Amino acid sequence: MRGEGRLLIVRFPTKTASNNEREEFNDIVQKNVKDCYQCLKCSSGCPLTAHMDYYPHQVMLLAKMGLFDQIFESKTLWVCASCLACSSRCPRDLEPAKIMEGFRTMILRDRDQGNVEILDTRKVPRQALIASMRKFRR
Ligand code: SF4
Ligand code: SF4
Repeated sequence: MRGEGRLLIVRFPTKTASNNEREEFNDIVQKNVKDCYQCLKCSSGCPLTAHMDYYPHQVMLLAKMGLFDQIFESKTLWVCASCLACSSRCPRDLEPAKIMEGFRTMILRDRDQGNVEILDTRKVPRQALIASMRKFRR
């Protein structure tokens, strides 16, 4: 795995997702993130970990713990190019790419509040730009 990633530090008490957020997430992804057993296969197959603050398996762990706010603030969601490599490797069929898409969808539904901000497009990987065009297309 390339890149430094981010050491997953969780301080308690920490705000966890509301029931509404959990319901919305479950409606979108139709997956039980609690089935993730942190084998890291998703992260070891991801071509973009060098540009992520949280690796895919860490996003899964945060989702499992209900720490949605940390995921919403992560740039990993927007670096992900939806290449599906992680999904093809997951032994639990959890489709991490779909989980990422689910969180992006939740942010985009809420984007009127200014949650999405691109600071410098020159630093965005080409794959992410192409994936973004798909994501933002109406
Ligand atoms: S490959 Fe699947 S089970 Fe393994 S850490 Fe990633 S999401 Fe969890
Ligand atoms: S879909 Fe996203 S998280 Fe999964 S391997 Fe591709 S870039 Fe990485």
